[in-house]
Amino acid sequence: MTKAERQAPPAAEPGTRVISRHRARSTGTIVSVIDNRDWGFATSDLPWITLCEDHGNYCSHETRQHAAGWASAPDQWCATCQEATP
Ligand SMILES: [Zn+2]
Repeated sequence: MTKAERQAPPAAEPGTRVISRHRARSTGTIVSVIDNRDWGFATSDLPWITLCEDHGNYCSHETRQHAAGWASAPDQWCATCQEATP
């Protein structure tokens, strides 16, 4: 798959507050940490979000620290990454 064939990431939505974005070494996918304290990204029960931009799956966290920690391991919370990682 080439970059051009990838669908636009959900995080590109205006108003989404992306704190950081980096490529996770374990999966090679782009993961964003999103400040969801204003519930601007999702009506989730927790205010911080990690988003696997390649797959569109996300996970919510209690604190920014937790989110940043989980961002490096999308294979722990992104179902599509889990399938791709043995
Ligand atoms: Zn993924």
